[in-house]
Amino acid sequence: MNFDLTEEQQMIKNTIREFASEEVAPGALERDKNKKFPIEVFQKLSRMGMMGLPFPEEYGGGGADTISFAIVTEELSRACGSTGITYSAHISLGGAPIHLFGTEEQKRRYLTPICSGESFGAFGLTEPNAGSDAGGTRTSAKEMDEMFVINGNKCFITNASFAKHLAITAITGEEVGKKEISAIIVPTNTPGFKIFDHYEKMGLNASNTTELVLENVKVPTDHLLGKKGEGFKQFLITLDGGRIGIGAMAVGIAQSALEKSLQYAKERIQFGNSISSFQAIQFKLADMAMKVELARNMVYKAAWLKDQGRPFKKEAAMCKLYASEICMEVTNQAVQIHGGYGYMKEYHVERLMRDAKLLEIGEGTSEIQRTVISREIGC
Ligand SMILES: Cc1cc2nc3c(=O)[nH]c(=O)nc-3n(C[C@H](O)[C@H](O)[C@H](O)COP(=O)(O)OP(=O)(O)OC[C@H]3O[C@@H](n4cnc5c(N)ncnc54)[C@H](O)[C@@H]3O)c2cc1C
Repeated sequence: MNFDLTEEQQMIKNTIREFASEEVAPGALERDKNKKFPIEVFQKLSRMGMMGLPFPEEYGGGGADTISFAIVTEELSRACGSTGITYSAHISLGGAPIHLFGTEEQKRRYLTPICSGESFGAFGLTEPNAGSDAGGTRTSAKEMDEMFVINGNKCFITNASFAKHLAITAITGEEVGKKEISAIIVPTNTPGFKIFDHYEKMGLNASNTTELVLENVKVPTDHLLGKKGEGFKQFLITLDGGRIGIGAMAVGIAQSALEKSLQYAKERIQFGNSISSFQAIQFKLADMAMKVELARNMVYKAAWLKDQGRPFKKEAAMCKLYASEICMEVTNQAVQIHGGYGYMKEYHVERLMRDAKLLEIGEGTSEIQRTVISREIGC
């Protein structure tokens, strides 16, 4: 067994860490306050070839592995959670389903602009009445004259305002009383397709979270992604990969909370000593460091299994569940270590705590991850 990163993974880590420290971290506080999407950051990431990192070179991707994707997501999230989720969703929800299930023509047409950064990647699954129970989709796509006519609503969709096209799930028919759900690629400029960016969120304020309204949106039937009726299966596979991204985000945010707390604890003097000399604070920091390390190992393991072409559903659920829950704990302790200053925006840790909460909810809540794991272990 070898726990070292490969030369390529280490090079990507060094490059992205330097970039994130110099170009992403400095504006994070301001973007959180102003709710400003980090478009300039992504223009630079596009020039660095990061937007298609794990996709094949023939579509303009970087041909790198899932561990490298996890490293980039972690490092961006360490600097700014909003940048991290934008990147993670772009790759694992936007690009991945097209890469996995698209025809050659669809990959050339839709994956290539995702890899170049010309379009952001997005995925429209959740609806007002279909969240954890994603099979409860009500959006419909009726076939007429070789076109799908789509009607419905999607909520909480990441990146859609900056996407030129995105895959959505819709009911395309019924088979023995069961809904037939399919995935369809919809260009966002199709008449009848409206995107609203109007949510007031708890955190991840600089990321783009949207509501989609589709009214008689017509796309040719060749926009079907994969086979008809396989939309449900496809999004479950897509979410398995996405959970590695959320796990990596959690590790990055928790790592940042740990580093900020350690530095603050050494500098803050109370009772004539730095608070880092108090065992109560030392033990908090030790627990935080241990949990971050364990979460990172689990993220890497899930990513490694995926790269080997081996089953990784259970490990992806475990890494997402464990990393998001420790991220919440670690960021909470970071605020505690900072005392009253931790409650103030300029010390960053309150933002980390707000950003962390989404990770226990998005791409399958903690309760759903436990359901997946219990099923996988044979309950
Ligand atoms: C910022 C943000 C970004 C997002 N980005 C995207 C995106 O890009 N694309 C997309 O499609 N979606 C996206 N989502 C949606 C997200 O995936 C859903 O919010 C999530 O899956 C939960 O669904 P819900 O909100 O409807 O909650 P519900 O499903 O209504 O859950 C409410 C509570 O009930 C619990 N619960 C539900 N069912 C069960 C069960 N069977 N057993 C035990 N407990 C259960 C849940 O765990 C939760 O605690 C995003 C959400 C947010 C907030």
